[in-house]
Amino acid sequence: MSRVYNFSAGPGTLPEPVLRQAAEEMLDWHGTGMSVMEMSHRGKSFVSIAERAEADLRELLQVPDNYRVLFLQGGATAQFSAVPLNLIGDASSVDYVNTGSWSKKAIAEARKYTAVNVAAEGGNGDPMAIPPQAEWQCDPNAAYLHYCANETITGVEFPEIPDAGDVPLVSDMSSTFLSRPLDVSRFGVIYAGAQKNFGPAGLTVVIVRDDLLDRASAQVPAIWDYRRQAEADSMLNTPATYSLYIAGLVFQWLKDEGGLAAIGEINRRKAARLYEAIDASAFYRNPVAPDARSWMNVPFVLADDSLDATFLKEASAAGLETLKGHRSVGGMRASIYNAMPEAGVDALIDFMADFERRHG
Ligand code: PMP
Repeated sequence: MSRVYNFSAGPGTLPEPVLRQAAEEMLDWHGTGMSVMEMSHRGKSFVSIAERAEADLRELLQVPDNYRVLFLQGGATAQFSAVPLNLIGDASSVDYVNTGSWSKKAIAEARKYTAVNVAAEGGNGDPMAIPPQAEWQCDPNAAYLHYCANETITGVEFPEIPDAGDVPLVSDMSSTFLSRPLDVSRFGVIYAGAQKNFGPAGLTVVIVRDDLLDRASAQVPAIWDYRRQAEADSMLNTPATYSLYIAGLVFQWLKDEGGLAAIGEINRRKAARLYEAIDASAFYRNPVAPDARSWMNVPFVLADDSLDATFLKEASAAGLETLKGHRSVGGMRASIYNAMPEAGVDALIDFMADFERRHG
């Protein structure tokens, strides 16, 4: 067996110890004689798996007691609708910051339900930047302020949590969730699809502040109703049991690695080394302003794009996979999520230098 360094933006690489443990437990989980996949979600074995996953996630993020942790399905895309349906309440509009493709998708969905005020636009210049908060046109009566913490396609990440005042702050954290410590108390709602940084596709984490649970519109489908899911321990319908089990193993792995402060420091180092290598070269270029550069998704272009296919072919031969940039922007993208070891980033940097020597 030989594993590659997988730079996929999602579904992305998972920690090898997690995959090994899942393999060991595949046929017989803890003496039950069955796979987690085959268990009733109501049985005590699976309930214990779900409870442990929630407890470990709460510990990792130090989630305050007045927040509910929901394990839902439908990806972040379902949350683009669930957020407005749950939070608009009596308000007549919502605020969104647009920093790229995923922000735009969230905005388009919210527009189906209410008036959307785009408080700020960014992530579109050269270099791509996030407009300073002093320039945002926020509405103090908005039901909430939404932003995408990390634009996965362009690699534009908020270095800090914006200040929303008394307006509930909502964030799509799909591609940055658990990459560093986070002050959950600053948020009304946080949501993230698992398949980038903490598990297989099919699972979505939603963290919601208690006082926001009673605003849902009567039309919200039951499975997207935060209050109903909170009351049902996220089991209003059959949850994504196997995905939640793997996410639970990832949470345990993160605790073993020293938690979010430790993994955050590793992530900071990995990203810094890769950006340094890109900046030091006249052959590679990253188009994002330094203070908005993502720690998780690092896009870069080659000076001569006719070499793109050769770059990808040679990278693959060197065991470096899935480096092709998103089809909407081209070039390359290295996603360096928690499970990407530092050695993987170093291997990429070495390969890039070698490629430049031979082709640059
Ligand atoms: N938001 C962000 C920031 C993403 O990266 C993605 C997936 N690439 C989505 C939303 C959509 O997620 P899903 O496919 O889980 O619905």
